[in-house]
Amino acid sequence: MSEINSTEPVPGSAPGPIAPCPTDRPTHPRRLGLNRDGYRGERIEVRPVIQEIRSWARHHGFTEQTSVFGDHELVFLSRLGRPGSRVYLSAGIHGDEPAGLIAIRDLIRDNPWPETLNLGICPCLNPQGCDSGTRENAAGHDLNRDYRNPRSTEVRLHLEWLSSQPPWDVSLCLHEDWESHGFYLYELNPSSRPSLAGPILETVGALCPIDPSSWIDGKPTNAPGLIRPEVDPRHRPDWPESFWLLQNGCPHGYTLEAPSDWPLPVRAEALRQAVQVATHRLALGF
Ligand SMILES: [Zn+2]
Repeated sequence: MSEINSTEPVPGSAPGPIAPCPTDRPTHPRRLGLNRDGYRGERIEVRPVIQEIRSWARHHGFTEQTSVFGDHELVFLSRLGRPGSRVYLSAGIHGDEPAGLIAIRDLIRDNPWPETLNLGICPCLNPQGCDSGTRENAAGHDLNRDYRNPRSTEVRLHLEWLSSQPPWDVSLCLHEDWESHGFYLYELNPSSRPSLAGPILETVGALCPIDPSSWIDGKPTNAPGLIRPEVDPRHRPDWPESFWLLQNGCPHGYTLEAPSDWPLPVRAEALRQAVQVATHRLALGF
């Protein structure tokens, strides 16, 4: 929840009645109805998933860098030197949102990337939180509010790696929202590049409801499942990862929010397909 802004919930964004949404299709899986006051869904053992990601990444020729802190480490994967777009992908910054890690594992295992694409992938930015199933890290910090003046070791290490890379063309940050009534996304695209929002929402809508609310996470939607926030990072003290990227050379970004009151395999597949359609559109030049 609340990836771009930290405003209080407003009518339309609060947990509503557990009922079918207007965008539900008969083929969509049913809502679980578990998340009344927070994420109450499936948990995963995160360390084996990270090991699996690393193993598949090595198998498919990715370069790995790691930064150790305590008994955890941050893993940074890259596949560079190609002629196409440079795409950045991250997950696991909130430890109660396991679908992003599963989506990245499946993507790296199946290796569906267009040949020309350059990739930088951070599969788990909050290993402590993912271990404990908490949104925050062990010190209680929401890492996705720590990118302007970082206090956390994780974000400082992440920024060291990011700063060693040339700027990215597009960022895709994988999240979940336990309150939402379906999948939605934030688009940051101030230079009005061709939007990937339509193809992503159309693809995901075939397997998972799109949130039909006119307000999501305290912000008005521009279309079902689409938020183009009118926020200037310069006026925000608590930057999420996406704001740092936007302010540091990445002109086009998406925060993808899977609905965590649906089964984990559905959410993970929604995120995986969103990434796949986005990367294939980029490779095709839209
Ligand atoms: Zn999140």
